[in-house]
Amino acid sequence: MRYWSDGNGRTAGVLGLGRSGRAAARLLQGRGFSVIGMDSDPSCGGCEYCRKVMVGRRQEEALGELDGLVLSPGVDPSSEIPSAADDRGIPVVGEIELAGQFATAPVLAVTGSNGKTTTVEWLGFTLSRAGYEACVTGNMGYPFSQAVLERPDSDFFVVEVSSYQLQTIESFRARTAAILNVTPDHLTRHGSMEGYIRAKSRIFMNQRPEDSLVLNADDPVSVNFMGLTEGLELHFSLRREVRTGACVEDDSIVMAWNGSRERLMGTEKVALPGRHNLANALAVVCMARTVGLDSSRMLPGLRDFGGVPHRLEEVRNLDGVLYVNDSKSTNIDSLRVALEAQSRPVILIAGGRAKQGDYSQLAQLVGDRVKVAVLIGEGAQTLKRAWNDVTEARTIERLDGAVRVAREAAETGDVVLLSPGCASFDQYRDFEERGEHFKALVEDLR
Ligand code: ADP
Repeated sequence: MRYWSDGNGRTAGVLGLGRSGRAAARLLQGRGFSVIGMDSDPSCGGCEYCRKVMVGRRQEEALGELDGLVLSPGVDPSSEIPSAADDRGIPVVGEIELAGQFATAPVLAVTGSNGKTTTVEWLGFTLSRAGYEACVTGNMGYPFSQAVLERPDSDFFVVEVSSYQLQTIESFRARTAAILNVTPDHLTRHGSMEGYIRAKSRIFMNQRPEDSLVLNADDPVSVNFMGLTEGLELHFSLRREVRTGACVEDDSIVMAWNGSRERLMGTEKVALPGRHNLANALAVVCMARTVGLDSSRMLPGLRDFGGVPHRLEEVRNLDGVLYVNDSKSTNIDSLRVALEAQSRPVILIAGGRAKQGDYSQLAQLVGDRVKVAVLIGEGAQTLKRAWNDVTEARTIERLDGAVRVAREAAETGDVVLLSPGCASFDQYRDFEERGEHFKALVEDLR
């Protein structure tokens, strides 16, 4: 019996009472725990599955009563309350670990710096088109704790896992795990390359010989994970042949499996645009193959997937100008791939709260692809300084003005691309609100 599967009257704390936290509380209550909800925000709104809720300063007091503590995905495990719990010897786990202990179907898990949501949704769609009941869950917005409660009969749980969440797993085991890419930016937070690799390698630390690990052979950091899993290793690459996994040869996706090579489809038939999405498709091929899908059952999913909102989402064609919403682009890397994916001249709307890092890395690409850069929000001047010499850069405070300026600047055949490369929090609640605002502004254009 695992620690969390039977409460037997013990008391568990749940830290962070958002959707995932409340779902975790519901799971725990259902298993006989007495649950105390905790949140730093006094206005968090409570939780019906908790015996009581302790907020703000009172959270510390709750620790005295706890036999265990579950962290919501957004909680930093090294922050004050988890550390204090740890010092007292209270077992601390993440919500993903908790839910994983209740999952009865195989878990297929995806982590990485960029492309996680797209890849889990794409894999889920592909499995569904092949006739499976695939439940897409985790960091993408549908908490894993809620999924194991509401959809226990799924054939697969396709779980998006963030690096935070990996820090708080113990027995979480993925039948198939994938690490899509690792941008070097994240290295600073973990102190050293070794520390970072250790953190990420947790996604496969509980794998057994019958499990599989999918790695991006084009990613310079991912090569460090090679040879470390107990299970089978698959690689994907846009640039070179792979022995087991998926790659691109002569503009076709090729699957290499059990010593044979099979051409799946021409790359032009892949549902989503851009080299980065081709890489995501290769990851989907690898993962789908590990659970037994042959090529004919993969094709409908690879070809027909409709994409995920706010990721290079086509909004409207107006006067020969295409408007694209890539509001989820919140860092330099996602802005880079968005620009690389464009075949038309770009009127770029970027900006928001700038991330650490040097936006002038993109100067050459911006110079090549961007006719006009319309820069908004707190980071506008930073971006302007980085690109002023290579393109016409205009700063404007808000998105409504930026859409107007972009429309005036655009000519038939251009694309107006919102790909901020920055966080949204200076002006919006989140990237979704920013993307919805953009779509509404574009729909209103006459
Ligand atoms: P995540 O869940 O990891 O944040 P998303 O699928 O939500 O990833 O995509 C986030 C941003 O990154 C989007 O702007 C998207 O266009 C871009 N993106 C998607 N896949 C990749 C990839 N493989 N490499 C780099 N950027 C990507």
